[in-house]
Amino acid sequence: MIILVMNAGSSSLKYQLYNMESEAVLAVGRVERIGMDDSILTHEPTGGIEVNRVSEILDHNEAVRKVIDILTHREHGVMTSISEINAVGHRVVHGGESFKQSTLVTQEVKQEIRRLFDLAPLHNPPAMMGITAVELHLPGVPQVVVFDTAFHQSMPKESFLYPIPMVLYRRHKIRRYGFHGTSHDYVSKQAAKVLGRPLEELKLVTCHIGNGASCAAILHGKTLDTSMGLTPLEGLMMGTRSGDLDPAIVPFTINKEELTLNEVNSMLNKHSGLLAISGISSDMREIVQAMDEGDSHAKLAFDMYTYRLRKYIGAYAAAMDGIDAVIFTAGVGENSWPVRKAVCEKLTFLGIEFDEERNLERSKEARYITKDGSRTSVLVVPTNEELLIARDTFEIVKSS
Ligand code: AMP
Repeated sequence: MIILVMNAGSSSLKYQLYNMESEAVLAVGRVERIGMDDSILTHEPTGGIEVNRVSEILDHNEAVRKVIDILTHREHGVMTSISEINAVGHRVVHGGESFKQSTLVTQEVKQEIRRLFDLAPLHNPPAMMGITAVELHLPGVPQVVVFDTAFHQSMPKESFLYPIPMVLYRRHKIRRYGFHGTSHDYVSKQAAKVLGRPLEELKLVTCHIGNGASCAAILHGKTLDTSMGLTPLEGLMMGTRSGDLDPAIVPFTINKEELTLNEVNSMLNKHSGLLAISGISSDMREIVQAMDEGDSHAKLAFDMYTYRLRKYIGAYAAAMDGIDAVIFTAGVGENSWPVRKAVCEKLTFLGIEFDEERNLERSKEARYITKDGSRTSVLVVPTNEELLIARDTFEIVKSS
């Protein structure tokens, strides 16, 4: 079965084509700057040469058409006909309380995703555009939606409710949803394989730290708690997002700085985090480099980032009454050995015996960065959200 995985952002569309018999990736690519006159399509067939094409791509509908065209292109394509695509899997950010698992796209499902636009105004509409474009360009091909929030729907009330008037939950479903669910799901399953123990027995803290960052307490294979909330702003300090802060800072800042609510919202989402403290960058590579060159602001940003992450790991170990392993994943988690070192070296009380040399190894494989015999393990597990989307799509389409 050939499955096309799509991940639509507000002005981008990433894709991967899978052959599910072998789970081989046939091609990867992305369309960026959708809506501009210099949109870029980057396409790479596996084992082939990367192609870059600049043209005006008006909307997601046209982007999907361009993707299909290049996938079947005489020279750069990997299929002879679009009829070879058996199913399409879409990443959808917000599934609210309605979607506890991935599901086949139907009229009702589309209606429900539209109803959830309020909760993810920047993310869900482009995903919906992708679904509609596939209906147009690949008529009759089954589509599956995989939600970032679905995996976390196992949270109990005591962790997903905020201590604010219940009427807000009843009327508007204001609660913790959590995000990066596909990644937390994927890496916790991979971790169980590496640890050689059933997931149902394990207490894991998964740290998905990339551009956005979230931690999750995975108790016996299910999310007990996670750091992102109603929106992806809560929790860890991120590249440009503040993460946790005193909510009173919002009205206080509005008053003192004569800012509007929208401006403060934008400040917290786009001008905070590593970028705000370092004054240099939101990218951990540049922070570490500046810190090594003696920049005190970069050092402070790094220290705050790792301190806050360490607090979450400790809190989640307490929430689960124990911990078997910490898992690092995503751009920073997979690549930044200084971040992992700063976090793990001061978690000795959890039984973590950190291994400096293992931490420096570079590999695309899941691996330990603790010493053999460490009571609590720390693993680096490369995430693969696209593969999980492809697997869910495969299973759902096969059994439908
Ligand atoms: P993601 O959102 O998972 O794609 O992660 C992207 C982020 O990972 C970038 O913004 C960087 O901050 C970070 N990153 C990627 N490579 C490295 C690296 N070698 N060292 C430190 N951070 C990295």
